[in-house]
Amino acid sequence: MTRDPSTEASDPAGNAQSEGLQALQGLAMDAAANPMFLADRNGCIQWANPAFEQLYGYPLAEIRGRTPRILKSGRQSADFYQDLWRSIASGQIWRGQLTNRKRSGELIDVEQTVTPLRRDGGPITHFLAVYEDISHRLRSEQSFARLALFDSLTGLANRVSFQRRTAEALSRARRNDKPIAVMMLDLDYFKNVNDTLGHAAGDTLLCQVAQRMPPCLRDSDTVGRLSGDEFAVLIDDLARPEQAAASAQRLLDALHEPFDVQGHSLRIGASIGIALSSSTDDGPESLLHHADLAMYQAKTSGRGRYQFFDAAMDAAARRRYTTELALRTALREDALEIVYQPQVDLASGAIVGAEALLRWTDPVRGAIGPDEFVSLAEQTGLIFALNDWVLRRVLRELSAWRASGVSTVPVVINLSAGHFDKVGMADSIKALLQEFCLPASAIRIEITETVMLQPSTTVHDNLRGLWGQGIAVGVDDFGTGYSSLPALRQYPIDYLKLDLSYVGGIGQPGRDEQLLRAIIGLGRTMGIQVVAEGVETEQQARFLRAEGCPLAQGFLYSPGVPGAEFLELLRAEHAYIEPVGGGA
Ligand code: C2E
Ligand code: CA
Ligand code: CA
Repeated sequence: MTRDPSTEASDPAGNAQSEGLQALQGLAMDAAANPMFLADRNGCIQWANPAFEQLYGYPLAEIRGRTPRILKSGRQSADFYQDLWRSIASGQIWRGQLTNRKRSGELIDVEQTVTPLRRDGGPITHFLAVYEDISHRLRSEQSFARLALFDSLTGLANRVSFQRRTAEALSRARRNDKPIAVMMLDLDYFKNVNDTLGHAAGDTLLCQVAQRMPPCLRDSDTVGRLSGDEFAVLIDDLARPEQAAASAQRLLDALHEPFDVQGHSLRIGASIGIALSSSTDDGPESLLHHADLAMYQAKTSGRGRYQFFDAAMDAAARRRYTTELALRTALREDALEIVYQPQVDLASGAIVGAEALLRWTDPVRGAIGPDEFVSLAEQTGLIFALNDWVLRRVLRELSAWRASGVSTVPVVINLSAGHFDKVGMADSIKALLQEFCLPASAIRIEITETVMLQPSTTVHDNLRGLWGQGIAVGVDDFGTGYSSLPALRQYPIDYLKLDLSYVGGIGQPGRDEQLLRAIIGLGRTMGIQVVAEGVETEQQARFLRAEGCPLAQGFLYSPGVPGAEFLELLRAEHAYIEPVGGGA
């Protein structure tokens, strides 16, 4: 195609030099990569370059004499075009983005610059329109925006956009005086799936979870994935808090159903924490934080449930935080202690074992019970360092006692559930025993029932690893949890420990005695030893003896005492030779 010779813009000067320049200008416009056309002052197209023909699909012959209206997509308003015309008619350059339509009907996003042309300050004779195709740029900008706002795995809102929407919902909520709810949802056994089936399976599971959530909610609610297996839900415009509870329960029910991942039927379940905007005046971060705290609470009180955040929970959380900092310091400075509570043979009264119990005296707050800090350490992951410290301390003391020629007894070490989730945990205990030259019978490991019930191969490997080395394993607080008989059948449990709350019920109204009798009988039938804990009175001891419970510990005999004191107790009993649990 060639430049249209009829344009009034052509220079009337007749000399050869200017003709040569004109030809060059025409050549340049023809060759320009940017699509462009030239229109007369009525907007009728006079000429267009090949790039224009190519972009819009119109040959020049077809559009010459027509107005650019044929490019209209209908996406811009009449006002938009009026503005454009007003500017260029007044002699100003107009620049802007718009959507046009190609000859094929396809829409195209362009940036358009329209320059009014006039000669020597005279009236406007022509308009030059130059385009740039920005479809690609917009597409990549949009996909970039998508990427920045959505989680690439599940397509749910990511943390940034979830927080943004929460902030918007919060300001709406304040205007309308209606609360919103934020839920944090954490899968209960996701880590096991990742550990045992691999990350691809984990990803598949996360996508399935993401699909199951929205149908449990209203269209106006937002679901986000904040990290790993952590999801969040924003419930806008909440009439009553019960509404949030109902949504949470629907989510729990839906996620409780098995998932089909790589041919495995997996039961996962979730825990949910809920924070209501009425319970706090803070921004979206603190709402999320409160929901997170409530979620932790839901997890620690048994998983598979939801929990609301409240002020008392917040105060407790703050206290836990300062405790955590102090505990880290104590651990670093070796400021913890172990006390040993003797275990006695109920028939003879001889000391046949001891339980190692952790003690911490904070310089400011005084003695803090493990009931307070162990669960905290479990939530923060500090428990691993803590239990390693306990193991080392106990083994070091035990080997020192042996070196001094005292006949020692097996010492019970409490290990938290999280410990069993660590690959190679049983092996590292073996290595520690070797390091201190101690036989497997020197210690016994006490677990809670939940350890056995975890559907994780790592946990099972560790349990079997302990038994494989000949380390005895007992179940603490038996009777307070699931009291699962299948678990007892599946594992060679060495002893069951009767929870002190039942022992405290001896001689009291209620059914505690019956329950104790049943568990002692169960132990006898299955060949599992039974240890009574929290024995404080002669009456309790008598009852247990009469029922055939072999072992006991409690304040009646002794509280936990420092190592040196315990050694004295052992020495005083030198008649005792062969400890229960084999040749320690
Ligand atoms: P637990 O393993 O059930 O320990 C028994 C608790 O009962 C101990 O409390 C003990 O001091 C207390 N006790 C013993 N005899 C009596 C009695 O006659 N009457 C009453 N009322 N209480 C008695 P403690 O030392 O405060 O430990 C509390 C819990 O902290 C333990 O419960 C255990 O779950 C955890 N814990 C303690 N030391 C460790 C540790 O080294 N590692 C881990 N993971 N947990 C530990
Ligand atoms: Ca225990
Ligand atoms: Ca116990």
